[in-house]
Amino acid sequence: MKDNPVVGDFQETVSEVLIRHRSILDCLSKYQESTARVNRSVIKTVTDCGCISIIANKKQYPPMDSLKDCAKYMDSHIKGKMCEHCREVIAEEIGKHLFYLTALCNTLDYKLEDLFELEHNRINTLGHFMLS
Ligand SMILES: [Zn+2]
Repeated sequence: MKDNPVVGDFQETVSEVLIRHRSILDCLSKYQESTARVNRSVIKTVTDCGCISIIANKKQYPPMDSLKDCAKYMDSHIKGKMCEHCREVIAEEIGKHLFYLTALCNTLDYKLEDLFELEHNRINTLGHFMLS
């Protein structure tokens, strides 16, 4: 993978500013907390603001020839369009989540760019057989 200066710089900056949560225990708990905050911000978009709704039911799809055809029958279950405020709040929470993910990578001595490359290669290799 080509060097990505944004990802590399971000990881370096996180390392410089992260003073309080250097312990793996702090990293893990802050990382988990940030995941919950991302989820909560999405939920608040539905329950507090109401700019989007979640309407879900059992997936129904006809018999298909390929997994590729399956994609057109998948639904996000999201109805409506996020307002600018909710969009900003969720982006901020995802940003914090990326911060603590990066902090976790720093603590465990992973280079974020390497992980992007590994996962990118894995996705490309598995293609439509990656059923997650
Ligand atoms: Zn909204």
